[in-house]
Amino acid sequence: MIMGCLGAGRQPRKLPPQVPILCYHNIRSSLEGHQPDYTIDRQQFRQHLKVLSDSGYHSITPDQLYQYLTRGIPLPEKPVMITFDDNRLEHYTIAAPMLRQYGFTGVFFIMTVTIGKPGYMSAEQLKKLSDDGHCIGNHTWDHPDMRKLTLQEWRIQVDMPRQYLEKITGRPVQGLAYPYGAWNEAAIKEVKARNVQMAFQLMGKMSNANPLYSIRRLQVSGNLPATELLEVMRSTFREERR
Ligand SMILES: [Zn+2]
Repeated sequence: MIMGCLGAGRQPRKLPPQVPILCYHNIRSSLEGHQPDYTIDRQQFRQHLKVLSDSGYHSITPDQLYQYLTRGIPLPEKPVMITFDDNRLEHYTIAAPMLRQYGFTGVFFIMTVTIGKPGYMSAEQLKKLSDDGHCIGNHTWDHPDMRKLTLQEWRIQVDMPRQYLEKITGRPVQGLAYPYGAWNEAAIKEVKARNVQMAFQLMGKMSNANPLYSIRRLQVSGNLPATELLEVMRSTFREERR
């Protein structure tokens, strides 16, 4: 079904339905003392994965999403993308084993300044995730607001982290998650110029001009009961454009 897709260089008349994309940050043994916007209890996280699995969802990769959006290549039934930001160590120690248990793969957006630091994943752990079928994406060097970068900073924040991650994994790193999910058309222009394939946000509707560079994700609250996850996904990813 090519008609509904994002043809290169021309304005799509209608986008295919949005795929739900979930975004998690910290996973802890308890929420106590943590901001629920950015933290989820590990058992609660397990319940989220369980409800997705029990409801027949299939995790997809950024490449599958790209092929779907640009070429109309069908996705598995009930697709979902499960993403993790910031390179937290618990993504390796807690999330990855749980994902495997439910037959899911994840997408890990890495802020490369943290690699090997206490509380964060090492290069070896990133390589292992990649070898195990998970995807590694770029989340810049040190998490700037990309709406405010100077010309010189783009290389440090986009090109160099990507090269570093490609060296670690031995695989292409084509996706980027904007730090804080924050973006604007000027940031898209720079990201596109650097041959990033797709970019993921957390703020606002998709850009009509550049939907591939303003793909929406749902920042999942640590307070969201698993029983409400599917309804929140449905209401968040209804077709809605600027
Ligand atoms: Zn982040």
